[in-house]
Amino acid sequence: MPEERVYNFSAGPAVLPVSVLKQAQEELLCLPGSGASILEISHRSKQFGEILEQTKANVCELLGVPENYKVMFLQGGALLQFAMLPMNIIRNTNKSGNYLVTGSWSKKAAAEAKTQGKTDIIWDGKDERYVRKPTDAEIKLTDDAAYCYLCANETIEGIQYQREPNVSVPLIADMSSEIFSRPVDVKKYACLYACAQKNAGPAGVTLVVMRDDFVEMSGDDLASPLSYKQIADKDSMLNTPPTFCIYIMKLITDWLKEQGGLRAMHERNVEKAQLLYDVIDASNGFYTVHGNREYRSFMNVSFRTPSEDLDKKFQEEAKEHKLTNLNGHRSVKGERASIYNAMPREGVVVLRDFMLDFAKKYA
Ligand SMILES: *Cc1c(COP(=O)(O)O)cnc(C)c1O
Repeated sequence: MPEERVYNFSAGPAVLPVSVLKQAQEELLCLPGSGASILEISHRSKQFGEILEQTKANVCELLGVPENYKVMFLQGGALLQFAMLPMNIIRNTNKSGNYLVTGSWSKKAAAEAKTQGKTDIIWDGKDERYVRKPTDAEIKLTDDAAYCYLCANETIEGIQYQREPNVSVPLIADMSSEIFSRPVDVKKYACLYACAQKNAGPAGVTLVVMRDDFVEMSGDDLASPLSYKQIADKDSMLNTPPTFCIYIMKLITDWLKEQGGLRAMHERNVEKAQLLYDVIDASNGFYTVHGNREYRSFMNVSFRTPSEDLDKKFQEEAKEHKLTNLNGHRSVKGERASIYNAMPREGVVVLRDFMLDFAKKYA
């Protein structure tokens, strides 16, 4: 059992800032002003009310959320959003959800949408093994499109949009593995959402930012915990929200503001990713990246060595350098280094140096 913290490259749940963990630890027995733990107080208490408001304010400030959007905190993970979005927007209409399938997560989102209503996969990167995103010219919407759905960063394949596509219908984005990693022009989306456990907190809360006209589309026949409108009307307090998760998201968004906001995070994230991609590109083909160059993710670096045996060795030897959870997803194999906001540059440098040594030894 390791006694000290490692460099944890897990794809999610994933690394959190040490200062946030320390603050949570310090406040765990007694949340300032409440005489009890955040785990013990009512969601209707003044203290939690303030935490919820402050978290919302932080999210709005960091993302630049316009006035005509609602910020909601839901449970059920991103997976529930895969189903809940079409349930609220296309079920019982004659409209279609148009899906850009660029990897495992958008594929899953389209499959869930199919259970709810008309779903058209208008672009699918499967035959190319999900190595890129579509160009604008390749996106052919159906006439009955209610929205165009995308996954901003495919966590498993490690491919990411460099900018949002230009389309004539509302955009919806799953931003689970890149929320808060770079500035985003929220008004280009009718809805964006992210489960917290990649880049925004612990598992158990999902952030949903939705434009008012979409919130209003929720059918009146939906059960209340599945209706965006009813959740928004009650300010995410229809029932007990995941109070501890929201509290941690507050600490993380406080931390992001201290770090200089999303522009500063983006600069640091791109620089961290470049440290790894530079080693890969200079390795004479020893390391190869899963995705095409223009779509490489700066959050999840998905790569491989020349053989599965070496991949195994890589992950074993990495552990001796306190570098953990570098295994690729079982569907893609190879290695994956998830280098979210909270992964310090120092951890990426240790990985970079290890990669250089490993290639020298086995090339
Ligand atoms: C992790 C992840 C999901 C799934 O999130 P759950 O909270 O486990 O449902 C969905 N989309 C993306 C892009 C992810 O990275």
